[in-house]
Amino acid sequence: MSATILQPGQIEAPAGSIPFLRLPERDEIFRERAARLRQLAPGHALQDFLLFMAAIADAQQAALMAFSSVPLPDEIRLALCREHGMPPLSAQGWQRDPAWHNALRKIAAQVKENATPASREALSRLEAMDGAALEKLADAVLSGQYSGADLAALPFIAAALQVYWTHMTTTLGAKAFDRIAVAQVCPACAAPPSVSVVHIGSSEGLRYLNCALCGTQWHMVRIKCSNCESTKDIGYDMIEGASGAVKAETCDACASYLKIMYMDKDHQVDPVADDLATLTLDLMMDEQGKLRSGPNLFLITDSDTPTP
Ligand SMILES: [Zn+2]
Ligand SMILES: [Zn+2]
Repeated sequence: MSATILQPGQIEAPAGSIPFLRLPERDEIFRERAARLRQLAPGHALQDFLLFMAAIADAQQAALMAFSSVPLPDEIRLALCREHGMPPLSAQGWQRDPAWHNALRKIAAQVKENATPASREALSRLEAMDGAALEKLADAVLSGQYSGADLAALPFIAAALQVYWTHMTTTLGAKAFDRIAVAQVCPACAAPPSVSVVHIGSSEGLRYLNCALCGTQWHMVRIKCSNCESTKDIGYDMIEGASGAVKAETCDACASYLKIMYMDKDHQVDPVADDLATLTLDLMMDEQGKLRSGPNLFLITDSDTPTP
């Protein structure tokens, strides 16, 4: 048998066999995010912020690797969810295991040294909280109802919840999940996408929405609004002079936008890191009167954002 060398065009997925889901790589997701943040930080207007976010990502990776085993939906439940198009780890419906509090404490201990005075105070408040108070903050993050919550503490809660949900989805594996009734939210946890990513390699040119909570990516065709599914009047804006690796995909029908990242322009783009490094694009969209349709959980502000 002679070996055949495959040409790029031959290894693309044939129509009909597009992988619907891409789960994050458990061993790498947060470590690669930290590396990307450190790559983007030097000389950036938000250098110190990006470096602190890198420290959080490192702490998230360590917390994920050390995560204890927690209750997960059994095969009967998973099959039922697949059959009825429901997300088995619903961000708002899933009974959270307190194991995520340990992840939070680990992250807090690891990043405290490098935190700004305001963040350090928020971390001290978190350390003093009991489980019930932490669950209340988790409810705020996962419901998008932030009014009255301790805003400075929420990014750390979000970091720990990301670790918990990433632990659950990567433990179950891609086979556990299938398409759900609503195309605009994560098939694993029903959280909204934070951004979308156009891939290279075996998924060349395919666009995936990236879950803000568990990091799962699910396929959606391109030039389609990820919020209202309109395919008309979709536009693309970018920061003048930028590489074009990050654009805002805008929709006139629902006056919203979501960032879209192109790996062929920069194969190292990361859904969270590159989002944080392109806040100028969000300001530009705000000036155009367009609302961001999915959250970055590290950029929680006083106004409530779309519900995960
Ligand atoms: Zn998800
Ligand atoms: Zn729309």
